[in-house]
Amino acid sequence: MRLILFGPPGCGKGTQAELLCREFGIAHLSTGNMLRDAVSAGTEIGLRAQEIMEAGALVPDDAVVGIISDRFDQKDCGKGFVLDGFPRTVAQAESLDELLVEKRFELDRVIEIKVADELLIERISGRFSCSECGAGYHDRFRLPKRANTCDTCGGTGFTRRKDDNEMTVRQRLNSYHTQTEPLLPYYNNRGLLAPVDGMAKIEDVTAEIQEILSVR
Ligand code: ADP
Ligand code: ADP
Ligand code: ZN
Repeated sequence: MRLILFGPPGCGKGTQAELLCREFGIAHLSTGNMLRDAVSAGTEIGLRAQEIMEAGALVPDDAVVGIISDRFDQKDCGKGFVLDGFPRTVAQAESLDELLVEKRFELDRVIEIKVADELLIERISGRFSCSECGAGYHDRFRLPKRANTCDTCGGTGFTRRKDDNEMTVRQRLNSYHTQTEPLLPYYNNRGLLAPVDGMAKIEDVTAEIQEILSVR
């Protein structure tokens, strides 16, 4: 299975990707996570990306396309993958099409997780994740079952993203509306796009996605 999870910052792409990848045993390809790893490791791309990410703008297309191209060559992508946060511009979508032909991968679905802007600030302000395994949580909507202990790995350290503040989120929303949303017709015209209500509870969103995936 090969999917794109599409939607604004904080809509639940990472949360749903985590659940789907566990269920189907496929790879979770988050360009945001890969870029944050590159920043921590101090690689050339990381150095280029750091300030841009802190400002809530988009990293140049060639950098993210290069990262995804390399990632596709790793063995775990053979079983399938969920793209989370890529593509984010029309140019990235066009490059992705070329890569898919080259690697002989076919896209099954593009799932659009729809959430109103007003809710996204609250989602992002309460977001934190496990420092050990990256599992995502929320102060109000998704606390670990045991206080301060990760459900997935038992880790006890958690982190918050530097760009998860209200001002940066507004900029990220702006980038989404101007640069990423224009991609919707690109996939809709090919019959790949399926919208889901991202304002429902986490498990209800998962159920709606599973319903869509079982149709094909
Ligand atoms: P994205 O990857 O699209 O930026 P996340 O999956 O990280 O979004 O979700 C943002 C925050 O909102 C996280 O703290 C997550 O736990 C929480 N969240 C995700 N989906 C829902 C939902 N359906 N209802 C309430 N909170 C949610
Ligand atoms: P969110 O979970 O809020 O949607 P991500 O973790 O996907 O955010 O991305 C964080 C930041 O990394 C973005 O604000 C952007 O600066 C950069 N980024 C991630 N993916 C891409 C991409 N496909 N193209 C350009 N920049 C990206
Ligand atoms: Zn963990």
